[in-house]
Parts: sequence; C-alpha cells; structure tokens
Amino acid sequence: MELSDTYIASFIQPRNELLLEMEKFAEEHHVPIMQLIGIDALNQLLRIQNPTKILEIGTAIGYSAIRMALALPNSHIVTIERDAERVQHARNFISRSEVAERIKVIEGDALEIDINSLSSTYDAVFIDAAKGQYQKFFEKYSPLVPSGGVLYIDNMYMHGLSDLDMKEVPRRKRTMIRNLHNFTNWIMQHPDYTSAFFPIGDGLLICLKR
Ligand code: SAH
Ligand code: MG
Repeated sequence: MELSDTYIASFIQPRNELLLEMEKFAEEHHVPIMQLIGIDALNQLLRIQNPTKILEIGTAIGYSAIRMALALPNSHIVTIERDAERVQHARNFISRSEVAERIKVIEGDALEIDINSLSSTYDAVFIDAAKGQYQKFFEKYSPLVPSGGVLYIDNMYMHGLSDLDMKEVPRRKRTMIRNLHNFTNWIMQHPDYTSAFFPIGDGLLICLKR
C-alpha cells in the first residue's frame, strides 16, 4: 500500500455489521475482495454514471455486489461466480442484506455460460475475476454494453507484478502478466473505447464505450 493510500484509508467511513462480518470472513478465508478505498472510488464513479443494470464477473462472497447495490439504490446487479462454495457464501450473505432483491448470483464459469441467458444490455460491467483472462471476458461481455456504457476492470497492477521486468515475475505468473500487458495494449488502442487507468487500490481500468 502506498503512503497516500494509508492517508485516504484513514477517512474510510464505518460499514454496517454485515459488511464488517464479510470483511472479516474474507480476511480469515483469504478471499480477495476489493480493497476499501478501491470500492469507495468505484462506487463514486458508478454513482456519477448511474447505471441501472450492472454485470459483475467474479462475485466471490458477494461483498462488492452488496456494496455496489447499496451505493446505487436503483440498480440491479447480476454477478457470476464459478466457485460453488463461494456462490453459497455469497447467496447467504446477500440474503441477509437489505439489497437481496436487486442482486442475482449466477453460478458458472463466465467464459462458458450462455450469454443469451443474461438480460439484454448492461450499462456497467465490472470485471474482477481470473486475471489472465481479461481479454476473453472483455470480448465476451462488451457486446452487452451499449454506447456510452462503461467497463470497469480491477487488479490492473496485479499486486505490483504488472510493471516488473518479466524476468523478475515468478515463472508461474508470467503467462498471466503477459496476457495482462497484451490486453492493456489492445484495449488502449481499441477504436471503440476511450480507456484510462485509475491508480486506485490494485489499479482500475475504465473503458468507456463510444
Ligand atoms: N468482486 C469480489 C471479489 C472477486 S475475487 C469483491 O470484490 O467482493 C475473484 C473471483 O472471481 C473469485 O471468487 C474466483 O472464483 C472468480 N472467478 C475467476 N475466474 C472466473 C470465471 N472464469 N468465471 C466466474 N468466476 C470466476
Ligand atoms: Mg479484485
């Protein structure tokens, strides 16, 4: 964490009991939920965009889905998770939240599920799943985003690995980092999107569809 992140973190506002319980659960079970300053920034951007339909790839235990639903009282969220145990925890936590009617969890691999089973379009897509696959997620789900819609992509820093020299990257992570670099170059030059890096949390990329 950067010094400035610590400074920003000192102003984070209190969360309700359920969210605190989820944060504790995530820490104890090593579930990589979004960092507090990252989710605050994402939520603020979402409030400005004000989407009514949000698609999330990578539910984990439902933390970010609940946080987004609380931040946007008019939104409906569909969120996809492939890990059956996490899906169960997510459904449990969500059922205990005050936004349960507005969140639908789909169990399955986001790269395999039938795209026709989702509702027609999503003003916002939040990609926060397997890190080596960003381009595949993007290519599969961006057609559901209308012109003016936004794709938000988390973990662009890959916990500090993304800007290392390839020989410093642990061998087993090299393909993932190479994929990330290729994806980043591809999307930055993509004629249909205006994209920008937001250096928040683990790095957020924001792609606005023209
Ligand atoms: N958005 C969550 C954190 C997600 S962690 C939050 O901030 O609260 C990333 C999750 O993506 C993991 O639970 C992992 O199981 C899931 N995931 C990874 N690849 C996936 C895929 N191809 N399809 C569906 N889920 C995937
Ligand atoms: Mg993340």
